[in-house]
Amino acid sequence: MKQIKYTRKAAPAHMVGDGFKVRTFISSAMWKDMSPFLMLDYIEPTEYLPTDHPRGVDVHPHKGFETVSILWEGALEHEDSSGGKGKLFAGDVQWMTAGAGILHKEFHEKEFSKKGGVLHGAQLWVNLPAKDKSTPASYQDIRSASIPEILIDGNKGKVRIIAGEMNGVKGAAKTFTRINIFDAHAKADASFDLSVVDGDHTTLLVLKGTVLINNDKTAREGDMLLFDNAGEKIHLQTNNETHLLLLSGEPITEPVAAYGPFVMNTQQEIIDAIDDFNAGKFGHLN
Ligand code: MN
Repeated sequence: MKQIKYTRKAAPAHMVGDGFKVRTFISSAMWKDMSPFLMLDYIEPTEYLPTDHPRGVDVHPHKGFETVSILWEGALEHEDSSGGKGKLFAGDVQWMTAGAGILHKEFHEKEFSKKGGVLHGAQLWVNLPAKDKSTPASYQDIRSASIPEILIDGNKGKVRIIAGEMNGVKGAAKTFTRINIFDAHAKADASFDLSVVDGDHTTLLVLKGTVLINNDKTAREGDMLLFDNAGEKIHLQTNNETHLLLLSGEPITEPVAAYGPFVMNTQQEIIDAIDDFNAGKFGHLN
């Protein structure tokens, strides 16, 4: 069994643009324990009133890493400077590789905006190893139906394998380094294991419910647990309806130099990234 190293609470909520009320779970202070995960903003369920002007974040750059958007309720749309464009609905995931540099915008979907409703999701930032930081920008639109699911404890819940592998079931996303993203939903009194690779950084977020971990510690809504690297299994027993997000991955043991939406290895690479962005080398997007 993997042992819990420590438990954290997310920061208080703040707005990203005018469309995303988020609580930040992973920040730069945790990079040494969390690599390759750089940031996790939990978009907590928030009701938005109808509007003809979709809320969100207008054109901005990214370079040197990947952004993973997971949506549980509502609808989003995005557009980027590589010509990529698409919509995300409940259950969908967008995996964008910023790599060498990209401009994009992220907004509530037009029809969703007109009707109003609840938006609920997460945005995760995943680092790239130095050798892949200049890979051409691209993205994977991962539809909910294409995400493999493992049923747990009879029919008391399911684990969606967004990325990685569990019990021989391979996840939907293509990744540059070994990463597991498991999205688990369970009813009360479900008992099950989540398995990861021994030695990988592993964290578990309790987004809803109360759960007993390894027959020992109780974790509640809003808790993020960081585990020791050693060990492969986490045993879970739900006390009520529960939603968990497990992240684990092979640590990238390289220096990190970051400035806002640029994540590189050295300060000089950050200066170059800003110069490239200002010179219009990330492409164009209106
Ligand atoms: Mn972005």
